[in-house]
Amino acid sequence: MIRHHISDKLLMAYSAGTLPEAFNLVVATHISLCDECRARLAGFETVGGAVLDRHVAPAAMSPDALQSTLRKIKAQGSSDDSGHRQGTPKEARDPVLPAPLLPYTGGKLDGVRWRNIGGGVRQAILPTSRHASARLLHIPAGTAVPDHGHRGLELTLVLQGAFVDETDRFARGDIEIADQDMEHTPVAEAGVDCICLAATDAPLKFRALLPRLAQPFFRI
Ligand code: ZN
Ligand code: ZN
Repeated sequence: MIRHHISDKLLMAYSAGTLPEAFNLVVATHISLCDECRARLAGFETVGGAVLDRHVAPAAMSPDALQSTLRKIKAQGSSDDSGHRQGTPKEARDPVLPAPLLPYTGGKLDGVRWRNIGGGVRQAILPTSRHASARLLHIPAGTAVPDHGHRGLELTLVLQGAFVDETDRFARGDIEIADQDMEHTPVAEAGVDCICLAATDAPLKFRALLPRLAQPFFRI
């Protein structure tokens, strides 16, 4: 049912471990919901190992160095995907928040500390490194997020309900990738409140004055 996936570029960066924590979290959360991207990731990890194989001078390495490097790469990949899941007790599962998000949210949706950011929209900033920021957004059914452009990269992953913008419709598991060239007004569909995980590496550009004034305060 997922129609919007992670780009090759992002998946490769995730596989190489070069993404900031906030983007890593969005990719890991999508992968936990998406068999297709999990399989693509496994493909990239195989290619990564083959590249390593060709470029490493055998003379400079101990006999088992390559194997141990590959093991490390593999371990890293699997701990990103499922490490939190292994460390999470069964009773801490949440129907809305996939396993990678639980350590960031007090273990369940009820534990999220929301703050109003206007227009009925609430957010909770997640504790990641400051190179990029991650937040949960709670958008009441039928409500619009203010019209905005992007200075950097914005990833939005739907966890509950759905939203529609100028480009398409996004439901649970779908990821929208927005950059400088895109301006949009996401509107939560009628019926169920929309909950999203969003990560940005630069502040958004709001057209309206009021969100612009509130922006430094809410760090969006
Ligand atoms: Zn996918
Ligand atoms: Zn946006």
